[in-house]
Amino acid sequence: MSAILLDGNAIAARIREGLRARVEALRRAGRPPFLVAVQAGKDPASAIYLRNQRRLCEENGVGYRLDDLPADASLDAVLDHLDALGRDPSVTGVIVQRPLPPQVPARALQAAIPPVKDVEGTNPANLGMVIYGRPTLVTCTALSVMAMIREARVPLRGAEAVVVGHSEIAGKPTALLLLDELATVTVCHIGTRDLALHTRRADILVVAVGKPGLVRADMVKKGALIVDVGINRVGNRTVGDVDEGARDVAGFLTPVPGGVGPVTVTTLLRNTVECARVQAGLPAWQEG
Ligand code: NAD
Repeated sequence: MSAILLDGNAIAARIREGLRARVEALRRAGRPPFLVAVQAGKDPASAIYLRNQRRLCEENGVGYRLDDLPADASLDAVLDHLDALGRDPSVTGVIVQRPLPPQVPARALQAAIPPVKDVEGTNPANLGMVIYGRPTLVTCTALSVMAMIREARVPLRGAEAVVVGHSEIAGKPTALLLLDELATVTVCHIGTRDLALHTRRADILVVAVGKPGLVRADMVKKGALIVDVGINRVGNRTVGDVDEGARDVAGFLTPVPGGVGPVTVTTLLRNTVECARVQAGLPAWQEG
């Protein structure tokens, strides 16, 4: 048996297609979406990411600006800048680029972006809505994991779902969203004693760790849906956290590259449009 590969590029293209009419409606209403990225200091790895961000926005009718703050900017200076963006009605979304210099801890910034402009979904209010079971703005990674899972159309109610990784942006919100679908959710992490014991039970296995080959074929239930979030460089290749051999056992699998990654990037655009809609008083997004 060979797993059906879930094509992230195709899913991302479909999401972008669905956004087109929404962007158009916002423009017609005189409330065009406008994303501002803020960085403090220039990180060479961020440059490519920021270039892609700009291109994605511009190709999809979303305004974009990069605000460059100096690497020695104080925490107060960054907070003041975010405050000004929060008050500026022409700015509908704000993203803070990482890595940040040591004097500017990311945590300290998360509450400074108003929830309605929080395209990354990490403001405590937005994270809290996930716990309430009424998600509004969800982290791009968790949202894209759920998009991949929906694509496979496997039943979620009562399914054994195992999430490996418990980060704020990936594992934790994904586990909560699966819980809301009435899956039986287990979260594994660095402290888990016997990872395979859990992964072998999983009908749905989400792996978001950052360790190539962490999940091998013999750790996977036959026919399982695997969402591989990991992005790792091995030599000149990009690989996920799940060994290639798992393809012979799983029912569905997200490839790396070309799986969760492109959907996550597009989800940033989706959240930007969503923020602009909320600010324009338009109805909230309904997941398809
Ligand atoms: P993180 O470093 O914040 O968290 C890693 C998690 O893995 C932690 O919960 C940790 O406890 C767990 N972990 C570490 N070693 C483990 C082990 N041996 N067994 C079980 N659990 C273990 O990472 P993150 O920001 O959530 O990112 C995880 C991976 O996903 C990285 O490779 C990152 O590049 C990738 N990522 C991909 C996307 C995407 O769109 N595809 C988005 C975000 C992150």
